[in-house]
Amino acid sequence: MSKKILIIEDEVSIAELEKDYLELSGFEVMIETTGDTGLLAALKENVNLVILDLMLPGMDGFEVCKRIREEKDIPVLMVSAKKEDIDKIRGLGLGADDYITKPFSPSELVARVKAHMARYERLVGSNIHKNEIIEIRGIKIDKTARRVYVNGEEKAFTTKEFDLLTFLAENPNHVFTKEELFNKIWDMESIGDIATVTVHIKKIREKIEFDTSKPQYIETIWGVGYRFKV
Ligand code: CA
Repeated sequence: MSKKILIIEDEVSIAELEKDYLELSGFEVMIETTGDTGLLAALKENVNLVILDLMLPGMDGFEVCKRIREEKDIPVLMVSAKKEDIDKIRGLGLGADDYITKPFSPSELVARVKAHMARYERLVGSNIHKNEIIEIRGIKIDKTARRVYVNGEEKAFTTKEFDLLTFLAENPNHVFTKEELFNKIWDMESIGDIATVTVHIKKIREKIEFDTSKPQYIETIWGVGYRFKV
């Protein structure tokens, strides 16, 4: 599947030239000529990278970049005719990934596009393939696969037990009241009350603690609640 690039550029001849070169390199390219339509396309279309001109009719490139960043983390290459603008973009910290001043050679643009595309792929790829794991002493929680291992042995957890354990383990040494835990893990419509929390804590302890009368992981703070000890 070819990668899709969005060019937001009001000078049609420049946009067309960029498009030709990028298409020759195997990219799918779409062009928008105003900031407003460009922003819309960036947010609605499934684009992999945006080439964004700074001076645009309507919403300018600064604003478009800012708005894209609020929603998406795709690479944004900003293009400007003025060197001073590039400094301004940097100063504003809009989150653009790269800056190119006009005039630039199309091959330079293609090279930068490819580099950013590759870097982004690596970033996204590593997020997809790496499971999110929490490890605390003998306990390993695989958040992605929703599995729990105690000293290397997998233990079966119900959805709420898993959510509760994960929440506590992600906030170690923080004392939560039963009310807080109930509100956090159970949605408001749930049948049950804070006694549910006590029952779940008991079940989790039976699975993770060596001796449930002397918990090493989830501590009871009398009169307050629970905390995950690290
Ligand atoms: Ca322009």
